Amino acid sequence: MHQLVRCVRCNTVFMKTPFDQEPEYPLAPLSPRGVTESTERDDFKDFMRNHAGHPLEDLTVIEDSYVSDKDYIEPVKLSYFRATNGKENFVIKKFREKIDEPLSYELIAGDYSLKCMSVEVQAREIEKQIAKEFTERPISKNKIDSFIRLFDHILGTVVARNLERIAEESSNPLEIYYKMDELMLMHLLRNCRYIFKGQEYLDIEKFVHRHKDDGVLLLKATFKIEVIERAKTKNNVLVATPSIEREKVSGMM
Ligand SMILES: [Zn+2]
Repeated sequence: MHQLVRCVRCNTVFMKTPFDQEPEYPLAPLSPRGVTESTERDDFKDFMRNHAGHPLEDLTVIEDSYVSDKDYIEPVKLSYFRATNGKENFVIKKFREKIDEPLSYELIAGDYSLKCMSVEVQAREIEKQIAKEFTERPISKNKIDSFIRLFDHILGTVVARNLERIAEESSNPLEIYYKMDELMLMHLLRNCRYIFKGQEYLDIEKFVHRHKDDGVLLLKATFKIEVIERAKTKNNVLVATPSIEREKVSGMM
């Protein structure tokens, strides 16, 4: 069980992990030999010594609040999660600079949000996939470009947050994939008739149906983590808060 201890006076935090340095993800290529359980125990003793006489409190990690700036499996990355003492919420920044360093935890009074930076069609992937599949009757580069421009133009006419999210497609928490809706699909196919004729149109129509739900025709949204410290919080900064169930709490990450 992970235990998060906060010094109320210094506003610092210590993560107690009884089986220390187990990788967060079993497949992660880390496990530096130098840092052992006993080192961590000593670190906790140091923490207790440094904060002797200070009021300490346990924080509970808020479930499903974990987000990081790189793939889940990356050992060197910056992550954030929420924790609470029951009255106030905090953001815990978790990081290490190098693979052989222990994890550091920093307490921030405030919250984070995910801000959508862009929603794009996967232009390169579409191009590659068409080239790969249309070997018998290849499609000209010009027409592929026109198709991508058309798809991109149609994407520009919709509001991404109304689209259906495809959760399992991404291993990166800041890259989220969405599926085009029926209206987009209709527009795309209708306008494809101006680019492709006869058999070529029929081939493209099949291609669209093959890849719209889980393939290269998914729309890729890129997000950025924005941490807002409590003192600096302004209402108009708190946008696009991810749907995280704040009520569900647990002591375990
Ligand atoms: Zn202290």
